[in-house]
Amino acid sequence: MTAIVIDGVDIAGKIRKTVSNGVKQLAHHNGIRPGLATILVGNNFASEAYVNSKRKACDEVGIEYFGHNLPDDVSEIELYELVNELNFDSRVHGILVQLPLPDHINSEKILEAININKDVDGFHPNNIGKLGMKNRTPLFVPCTPSGCMMLLEENSINISGSKTVVLGRSNIVGLPVGMLLLNKDATVTFCHSKTKDLPNICREADILIAAVGIPEIVKGDWIKPGSSVIDVGINNTWISHDDDREFTCSSSEKTFIAHYQSLSDKGNRRIIGYLCENSGDVYSSENLPKDIDKNGLVKLVRKNKLVGDVHFDEAKLVAGYLTPVPGGVGPMTIAVLLQNTYNSAKLMYS
Ligand code: NAD
Repeated sequence: MTAIVIDGVDIAGKIRKTVSNGVKQLAHHNGIRPGLATILVGNNFASEAYVNSKRKACDEVGIEYFGHNLPDDVSEIELYELVNELNFDSRVHGILVQLPLPDHINSEKILEAININKDVDGFHPNNIGKLGMKNRTPLFVPCTPSGCMMLLEENSINISGSKTVVLGRSNIVGLPVGMLLLNKDATVTFCHSKTKDLPNICREADILIAAVGIPEIVKGDWIKPGSSVIDVGINNTWISHDDDREFTCSSSEKTFIAHYQSLSDKGNRRIIGYLCENSGDVYSSENLPKDIDKNGLVKLVRKNKLVGDVHFDEAKLVAGYLTPVPGGVGPMTIAVLLQNTYNSAKLMYS
């Protein structure tokens, strides 16, 4: 058996098209342009990349984008005030605080400060609470879980009465996706870091959702033949390179493995450090002084590869349906965010 690979890019593309048409209609009939504000605190590499792709996606569908970048040491009160300001900004229909926030900020407090009518990420306790209650409808459903449901539904995968296993119970993915599946009458088993005998539990699943954050933890022999497997995990794994060597950061004594970037060095690379050839100083990309001229530095790079929580090649031989990484759940997350923002604008004026 070879699994049908679910094309998240294609399904997300259809959602984006619908949103783009809707945005044009709103402008034409109501003179309104939906707006999304994102708040990014600090310069976490992955968070910056996520926020950038949200900005690009907004541009593509005509949603106005308001990006707010705050320094790592911003106080909780300053962040709270910005959220409040955006709550009252009539151009903003959706507010997204990029997680994780630095440790000195109480994420719960900040997420609760978002006006529930602009909670397009669906993380406000009021929205999550309603998701977990029978016969209640949240205003917004978290984007990644909602995207997982769409992938199942678009492929007419039967949910009602199915045995469904969710790996992971985070507020962002595992818990809400499990609640959504329960609301569609699946029998849901949540697994987490303390769960015993994961492989045997997974083998029972008609639908398996993997949202753990451990590269390829789900092996082919964990999967029930013919089942549907949705891989939420996005894990950056390193591929070793012949010229890899160890560098020590001049200021922090921390070490990392990388190699010099050469002109022939093509493919997926990530800059993880810099070397100043004159002084011999080595910086990691996180501690590069702000005033330094990057042009005078040699880039230190590693080859990277994105993999999911599921061993794709093994799973493909067993599952009935399978999402790839990248190109499965990832594109859906952003498409749903656009849809939620558009819906929010529509709701405010209906
Ligand atoms: P998280 O770290 O908040 O939660 C991980 C969950 O996995 C926890 O509930 C934990 O109990 C469980 N877990 C950890 N080790 C386990 C083990 N050995 N066995 C079983 N369960 C275990 O992570 P998250 O925010 O829920 O994200 C999970 C993954 O999904 C990550 O790879 C993340 O990058 C990815 N993600 C992808 C998207 C997307 O758009 N595709 C969006 C959000 C998160």
